[in-house]
Amino acid sequence: MKKKLILIFLLFHWLSILFAQRLEIHQINVGVGSATLVVTYSPPDPNGLVIRTSAILIDAGLPGPGSLAIRNYLNENHITQLTAVYATHYDNDHIGGFVGTSTNTGILNSSFVDQYTYVYDRGTPNSASATTTSYINRANTFTRHTTLTSGTTHSLYRSGTTTNNINLNIVAVNGIINGVNYNVNNENDLSSVMVLSFNGFNFFLGGDLSGRCTTTGDGCGSSAPNFANTDYGAAVANELVQYPLNRGGALMTHHGAENTYTGFINSNNLSPPLFALISSGKQANYQHPRQSSLNLLYAASIVTYITAANLYNRATRLGGEFDPVRGSFVNGNIVVGVDASGTITINGESVSPPNPQ
Ligand SMILES: [Zn+2]
Repeated sequence: MKKKLILIFLLFHWLSILFAQRLEIHQINVGVGSATLVVTYSPPDPNGLVIRTSAILIDAGLPGPGSLAIRNYLNENHITQLTAVYATHYDNDHIGGFVGTSTNTGILNSSFVDQYTYVYDRGTPNSASATTTSYINRANTFTRHTTLTSGTTHSLYRSGTTTNNINLNIVAVNGIINGVNYNVNNENDLSSVMVLSFNGFNFFLGGDLSGRCTTTGDGCGSSAPNFANTDYGAAVANELVQYPLNRGGALMTHHGAENTYTGFINSNNLSPPLFALISSGKQANYQHPRQSSLNLLYAASIVTYITAANLYNRATRLGGEFDPVRGSFVNGNIVVGVDASGTITINGESVSPPNPQ
């Protein structure tokens, strides 16, 4: 009897070790722009000690508000060191916070990085804006400054079993997918497209990748499709098929601009995500997210979380239409927690996976 109890204890102990590994996605409220902090944790060791195995930052918002919000957030969460930083593309609302201002220390000039920090980006810029030049100059001082390559996998945590590894998969960058160049030249479409994967959970991030308008109107004007290169849009979607999102989520590309949802998630038989995050600022001048994108998310019953509470409305150009039943204005940071057992929480509330397929 005693032996049996010990066996049962050991079994539960083993299961708890297996399932205690954890992934967190923090969409930091940086106002206009985007900044995603990804943190991974080890299972507890025999003494119950859990180790934060990596903390990576994908984009950093605008120079002033971005760097300030990120530094405050890291301090509040007792994160002193970033394993790696990623710039999806070279627009001000994504790389600004890495550079900072005279009064706001940029992340690449802060104590959160050092000679061991990896700095990943898309390499040579198309045009040299002041922010881009500052960014490149600063990034070049890091010995681990590396250009992203599509088809590569960055390991954030190796569990010892392939299924429980936590990886960042580089799907596309610079308009190139697995060596095929689609000759894209728009900065947004040159964004690196990545999928974070963990034991069947997938999370899609694509910088400011365009959507593909299938109909005209609501931001698409008469230029449907609006993709710089429609072949590229289809190729990205095809590549994403291997990362089903029905047990995961997506950071809406280009802050929920028109039809970024249809362009990637609702095309080529891609499974709709369980949840969607939108990083948008309160300023209405960028008109993000668009009502058309939100309506598509609602129609597909995708739980939607938005960092800021000021939506663009086509008719009034003020406020916005938002369905509080099918989504949440967080008006702050969004924290997604994923355990190895598949349990997903967003800001403490559990998000139910659909029926197994
Ligand atoms: Zn942007």
